[in-house]
Amino acid sequence: MENSPKFYIHSIYKATEGEGVFIGTPQIFIRFQGCSIGCINCDSKETWSFSEGGEYLDIIDLYTLVLRESMGIKRVSITGGDPMHPKHIEGVKFLAKFLKDKGHYVNIEASGTRVDHELFDLVDYISFDFKTPSTGVKTQINLVEKVATQYPGKYQIKSVIQDRIDFEYVMEAKQSLGNQYINWVLTPAYNDDSEFHVKDTQNVLKWNEDNAGTFRVISQQHKFIYGTDSLRV
Ligand code: SF4
Repeated sequence: MENSPKFYIHSIYKATEGEGVFIGTPQIFIRFQGCSIGCINCDSKETWSFSEGGEYLDIIDLYTLVLRESMGIKRVSITGGDPMHPKHIEGVKFLAKFLKDKGHYVNIEASGTRVDHELFDLVDYISFDFKTPSTGVKTQINLVEKVATQYPGKYQIKSVIQDRIDFEYVMEAKQSLGNQYINWVLTPAYNDDSEFHVKDTQNVLKWNEDNAGTFRVISQQHKFIYGTDSLRV
């Protein structure tokens, strides 16, 4: 196709969503290569480099891979890496529009560092990270407010909770927004030791129950089913 940008892609694969509100739903993941955010507990550091680990594809090659994987599945998640990095964002908008024109349901995994209205208006759903202290990265709370206010019914806020410090941090952040409803999911951090993870998850469930239960707590099922090191799951 003329005028197609080149997309720097880590991988394209079919898998069942393992976290967040669409847990259990099969979809096609389009994973961009390249992220400069640097979360300490990132579970996909292989997607950080902007110069190796990926492949440049035009829209025809990319969509051929999507169709080969999809088996009729219409749901697509654009993820990374950081698909909203300035090096990717224009290509991601082109891709989102292309997929919508082909009748796909499009989710964007947004790293919580920026809001892009042109992109967010295009997609069907926005999964927006609110980073916790254990990530070593900070999300501005006003970005969460923007997403919640301007995209009601088509967003989730996601936070990884490693310890009580993380939980109290998201509690305070949420309280600072007053009484408005926020669709906010807590993801207990996963460690290799599954018994320990059970305890971590129990802790997050209990903290949420003891603090008015305003969050949804959803574990990363793909990690305990396939293991923490498994890719494309
Ligand atoms: S934004 Fe995502 S890919 Fe980038 S460092 Fe954080 S968790 Fe990893």
